[in-house]
Amino acid sequence: MDFSFPEELLSDIGRFNDFLNDGFETRLNAWYRRRDLPREFFAELGRAGGYGFTFSEESLVKRSAFQEALFAEELARRSPGAAIAALAHADLGMMGLYLFGSDQLQRRYAENALNGKTIMCLGNTEGHAGSDVAAVAMQAEAATDGWRLTGTKSFVTNGALADLAVITAVTDPGADRAHRLSMFLVDLEQPGARRTRLNKQVWLPSDLTRLELKDVAVPADHLLGRRGHGLAQVLQIFTHSRVAIAALTLGTAAGAFDLAVRHAARRTAFGRRIADHQAKSFEIAERHAEIEAARLALWKACWTVDRGEDFREQASIAKLLAVAAARKTTAWAADIFGAASVMFEHPIHKFPMDAWGASLGEGTQDVQKLIIFREVIKRYR
Ligand SMILES: Cc1cc2nc3c(=O)[nH]c(=O)nc-3n(C[C@H](O)[C@H](O)[C@H](O)COP(=O)(O)OP(=O)(O)OC[C@H]3O[C@@H](n4cnc5c(N)ncnc54)[C@H](O)[C@@H]3O)c2cc1C
Repeated sequence: MDFSFPEELLSDIGRFNDFLNDGFETRLNAWYRRRDLPREFFAELGRAGGYGFTFSEESLVKRSAFQEALFAEELARRSPGAAIAALAHADLGMMGLYLFGSDQLQRRYAENALNGKTIMCLGNTEGHAGSDVAAVAMQAEAATDGWRLTGTKSFVTNGALADLAVITAVTDPGADRAHRLSMFLVDLEQPGARRTRLNKQVWLPSDLTRLELKDVAVPADHLLGRRGHGLAQVLQIFTHSRVAIAALTLGTAAGAFDLAVRHAARRTAFGRRIADHQAKSFEIAERHAEIEAARLALWKACWTVDRGEDFREQASIAKLLAVAAARKTTAWAADIFGAASVMFEHPIHKFPMDAWGASLGEGTQDVQKLIIFREVIKRYR
């Protein structure tokens, strides 16, 4: 594997970093303190080319997984909460449109989604359907002009702001578990859609929202992909977004590590810099090695995606290792700051909370282990 990046990729990342450093990071911090991410965030990020897609010949085109991972890491180093809003918009919402939207739907929605004028989200999780993705109960009833959706999606990132949602619902209750669900593109401005913003404490300033749909009309041409294939389709979206969330989680670990090591290299205690106490110097080395190992797993996942090969195992390994590194590093980094770290306004404060969020979104650690095990055991049977 060649670790040298092409010139073009390096200059894209340079430009993206300039954009982040040129006032955007300051605005991110202000939004964090207000606990509110405005619509302009999505538009600004779109103008900076911050999503993993481009628009060409009236349809979405996916960028390289490498580029997307590097961008996600940079954004998450500054704000994992802003990075998850971007991920829910692009890697869950737009990904549904990219993988399963007809040419007509892409022509209608993709350009505005890319420039952040139309905000997207994805709702699958319900009261009894979390890790068990297939257990969705939302009903889709056939109507003369399409479908009527009724039910509740309990945790939807961007649900408070989104214009369009990718939603799974039961179209074929009599079918087997693998063929009960279909996937829809739902206009959340339709009558019958109600949003309740939840009081979450991780991944600020993004929102987490409960979406209640009551007889919400969905035109027939807004069914994404194939009727009865919603489960396989949503799992395909999650496999893609798992690589993006591994990158976001790596950025969470790396952002906390940078802050903590910078502090440890300056602050003195017992007559020497904190970093020069041998116990702390060993911890710095260990955290660095764990982050590097997670980064290598992520890059292998990106390499596999970009070669067009099956990347299920690599995506789950990347997320498993990134979350393990982030949970350990962020808690450690907060300790390095001592009492100051417990203040909401302190730059380190958000990181342990955001690593916790990362351990849940796109599948828990247990779910990653189930996926990895299934892939490994195939080779022994
Ligand atoms: C901040 C945040 C943002 C989110 N955003 C979205 C979103 O945009 N869209 C969306 O649809 N969902 C979203 N979710 C929901 C998220 O995907 C689910 O929370 C997650 O899949 C876990 O489901 P659950 O909470 O129902 O936990 P459960 O599935 O009830 O799991 C509870 C515990 O049991 C373990 N467990 C479950 N099954 C097994 C098993 N077979 N073997 C071993 N252990 C198991 C789990 O690992 C976990 O520890 C979000 C969640 C959070 C916290």
